[in-house]
Amino acid sequence: MGLFSTRKTKFVDSDILVIGGGMAGCGATYESRYWGRDLKVVCVEKANIDRSGAVAQGLYAINCYMGMQWDENQPEDHVRYARNDLMGLVREDLGYDIARHVDSTVHMFEEWGLPIMKDPETGRYQREGKWQIMIHGESYKPIVAEAARKAATEIYNRIMVTHLLMDDTKPNRVAGAVGFSVRDGDFYVFRAKAVIVCAGGASHIFKPRAVGEGMGRTWYAPWSSASAYGLPILTGAKMMQMENRIVLTRFKDGYGPVGAYFLHLKTYTENAYGEPYEPTWYESIKEMVGDYVDRQPVPTCLRNHALLEEVKAGRGPIRMVTKEAFQDPHKEKVGWENFLGMTIGQAVVWASQNIDPKEVNPELTTSEPYVMGSHATCSGAWASGPEDYAPDDYQWGYNRMMTVDGLFGAGDTIGGAAHKFSSGSFAEGRIAAKAAVKYVMDLKGEQPQAGEAQIDGFKETVFKPLENYQVGRNEIVAGTVSPSYISPLQGLQRLEKIMDEYVGGIGANYMTNEPMLVRGLEHLAWLTEDLDHIGAEDLHQLQRAWELNHRVITSECVTQHTLFRKETRWPGYYYRGDFMKLDDKDWHVFTGSEYDAKSGEWQMSTMPVHHIID
Ligand SMILES: Cc1cc2nc3c(=O)[nH]c(=O)nc-3n(C[C@H](O)[C@H](O)[C@H](O)COP(=O)(O)OP(=O)(O)OC[C@H]3O[C@@H](n4cnc5c(N)ncnc54)[C@H](O)[C@@H]3O)c2cc1C
Repeated sequence: MGLFSTRKTKFVDSDILVIGGGMAGCGATYESRYWGRDLKVVCVEKANIDRSGAVAQGLYAINCYMGMQWDENQPEDHVRYARNDLMGLVREDLGYDIARHVDSTVHMFEEWGLPIMKDPETGRYQREGKWQIMIHGESYKPIVAEAARKAATEIYNRIMVTHLLMDDTKPNRVAGAVGFSVRDGDFYVFRAKAVIVCAGGASHIFKPRAVGEGMGRTWYAPWSSASAYGLPILTGAKMMQMENRIVLTRFKDGYGPVGAYFLHLKTYTENAYGEPYEPTWYESIKEMVGDYVDRQPVPTCLRNHALLEEVKAGRGPIRMVTKEAFQDPHKEKVGWENFLGMTIGQAVVWASQNIDPKEVNPELTTSEPYVMGSHATCSGAWASGPEDYAPDDYQWGYNRMMTVDGLFGAGDTIGGAAHKFSSGSFAEGRIAAKAAVKYVMDLKGEQPQAGEAQIDGFKETVFKPLENYQVGRNEIVAGTVSPSYISPLQGLQRLEKIMDEYVGGIGANYMTNEPMLVRGLEHLAWLTEDLDHIGAEDLHQLQRAWELNHRVITSECVTQHTLFRKETRWPGYYYRGDFMKLDDKDWHVFTGSEYDAKSGEWQMSTMPVHHIID
């Protein structure tokens, strides 16, 4: 037994356990109560659900709303849109399922007090684009969290979930989760009949553009630490499309959003010499990806690609032309409000760099890659689809259940359904919860068992970094370099360097190939060995240590998938230098992986892409 095994253990039993109280987690918690009136519903969150997750700072637009009440769009239209943007590869059943339910979710947000802008002429929601509606969304997250708080039996804030518990009596069935309080260090054991993972996507697995004191300045929230993938991967759950990382074109240094600028303010981009550059690259893109370049709207990755090529050709920086639009006082107001509602940092960066967009056209840049299942990419877990709509080989049980019994997911966690965004993530949380309630009812009181041996084992593992530090620091007289442990930050920077250089980060212009990926995997294996020797000096660092663990296993998964798919499907997100073209003949398929935690082996596979909608 380790030094810290005397820590208090707290047991929390529930019917449904929701891990992560972001958009999807709040949706799952809310809906679990709706269908499971008498069930015990617990939500556990590493921050505080009132201001946690990617929406913590607020949003200025809800990016997924059909507008079916006014016949603006139908769910089929959204599936076509997402399929086009993802170069043909989406789970159409999952996307359709979200699209048909998302409007009712948005109507609930409005009922709960979210101010949605209205078009003064039509009285309809103010559109920013075909799918986006504009909101006064600074308080979006607290509003949504209030609904979850009222629905839950208990919310546990400030608990970092580190591992999932598995049933000792039935193979491949989840039994709950364990974690620790980042405030008092108590060990928590959550025993549950069904678990819904809603723990967000992954930033900081690739080296960001801003390092050192600026390392928190990324597009994606720095606290999105890959738990959504790390937790299921370690149980052997099947993952899909993990190579499909996202790269964003955003305002330089502050990563302020560009959607409202393009769509509402009608601004456009040009190269350093004031010329349009996308037409320059049309023929070469067509050569790489064929007809996909002619689709409307042009897929996001291809627009990134044109920007990257133009900069490589020596005609950067690329700028957003704001000077014209900002002469209109209404547009100027919207332009600034857009940042104040969701990315205040961009306004501060412009102020600090003397940029008034009325006078200066601001620079754009591309971000480092992130892993997400809810934005313009669809990495995540392979999940069972809706009973009334999914093809037979896409369903094996309850809707949104992974390949592990009783383990559900929503939002960034679930792969295949891109463009769900905040509203679609909440809607998917609701969908998963409804199915999880049914799963619990069908158990008829049977309870998965997680015995003492499993729990004690995790307890020792979870607090080991504190012990490593306590023991190892005796070998140090000063400074942070130790012969026997690495700090979480040192581990993180090592990970980011490996991923950047070998797996297609900014430092390599998003380029990789088989030898690079194989070498990257070797480095990741050595880093994984060293994870047993992380030293954490306090509970905050202990959280960082476990976030790093989740990031590393997710990175390995991303690398394995990138190695497996032998084509360049999404130029502008990453390139396989040894297979520079899109290959619809051999690779119009989903990639899948299953990890065996005992052997450390990955089983790779392909799954068919069924086109359900014409
Ligand atoms: C920069 C940015 C801009 C965006 N802009 C828009 C927009 O304008 N409009 C729009 O509709 N959508 C937008 N989105 C998308 C939207 O934010 C996401 O689709 C949505 O938040 C995903 O929901 P989620 O629940 O999967 O993840 P999140 O909302 O991020 O929630 C994940 C939760 O899990 C918690 N968690 C993580 N790990 C653990 C752990 N180990 N233990 C316990 N808790 C854990 C986190 O603290 C967090 O609360 C944007 C996203 C980003 C990153």
